[in-house]
Amino acid sequence: MDRRKFMEFSALAGAGLVSSGLASRGWAVEMMLKDEQELDQLKYFERNEKGELWLRPGIADDIIDFHSHLGLSFLGSAAVDLDREDPETKTYFPQHGNPVDLSTYSAVSFTKASAKIAQNESVKQAYTKSGYSGTHTPKNLLKEMDHNRVTRSVILAIDYPLGLSHNSRVYMQAAKKYPRLLPFVSVHPYDALMERKVKSFRAQGALGMKIHPPMQFIRANNKKCMELTKLCGKLGMPCLFHTGASDISPKFQNDYPRIEYFWEPVQKQPETIFVLAHGGIHFYKELIELAKKNQNVWIELSGQPPAPIREMLDAGLEDRMLFGSDWPYYTESLPLAKVLLATEDAPLVRGKILHDNAEKLLERAAVRGA
Ligand SMILES: [Zn+2]
Repeated sequence: MDRRKFMEFSALAGAGLVSSGLASRGWAVEMMLKDEQELDQLKYFERNEKGELWLRPGIADDIIDFHSHLGLSFLGSAAVDLDREDPETKTYFPQHGNPVDLSTYSAVSFTKASAKIAQNESVKQAYTKSGYSGTHTPKNLLKEMDHNRVTRSVILAIDYPLGLSHNSRVYMQAAKKYPRLLPFVSVHPYDALMERKVKSFRAQGALGMKIHPPMQFIRANNKKCMELTKLCGKLGMPCLFHTGASDISPKFQNDYPRIEYFWEPVQKQPETIFVLAHGGIHFYKELIELAKKNQNVWIELSGQPPAPIREMLDAGLEDRMLFGSDWPYYTESLPLAKVLLATEDAPLVRGKILHDNAEKLLERAAVRGA
């Protein structure tokens, strides 16, 4: 890998977002890190006396992470332990010894070997919590949030029909116990009791719906899926979709989350808010087109490097962009670093992405007294 890859902030001025002040300051950032531990080379982070990475005070306050997960369980495996705490969370993307390129989508930085471990570990959560997923607990997430000055995190369940999983139920329990975690539930569009389940979760305080096209084998313009998103719109629940093909997901899954499948539901259901996660991964330009033409499309940015984030800002989408981490795939620090780099010298925009926009959306999604 080419070790020397700088982001020159003078280049940002050309993007129309960043004032020319930076160019004169000549701040350049090495975009290639030996591993995540080198995030402390960025001016945003520092280490405490225990050697832990912390976001420095004064960089951003009251951050809201719009994309995280607790350990998922499938096919009857034990649910995540709501009380467990570990010295270090085993994130799917390794925190040690794996080079990081801050200028690319996060999954691109997996090596062949680390991708294989991540794939095995994420499959393993279906039958045991003895691996990485055992550390994906609320307490470990809260610790990560504290280190990054994240006050609240949206936790996204993923479930299958036919009683094959009960993650939404567990997430609701976790959110009750830890109010800084905000639950988005999952009801499979093909669940025979779809409507009843969605209404029941909403009555219990679920804020939104998570839909994962490749894992749930469904496209956004599928008739059943559109029934689900329509219902969510009526109930005031935003629908957060995984979008874009991940670099480490199996090829057969890559068609499900394509951006073109969103045009129909987005345009036919103006009442529903569609939050498209990961900024469409490598299809962010298509997502920008969709979002420019449809006010009910929001973009969650997890994994996106600075350049696409700036393109979105230049497209005028600054009021509908949301910071997300995809913890425990990644730490919260890594995607946070990318948003901070993208918004260097644009404090208002930074505040919108890290807090204001999420606050607005959550306020709209809040359960009104029945
Ligand atoms: Zn995710």
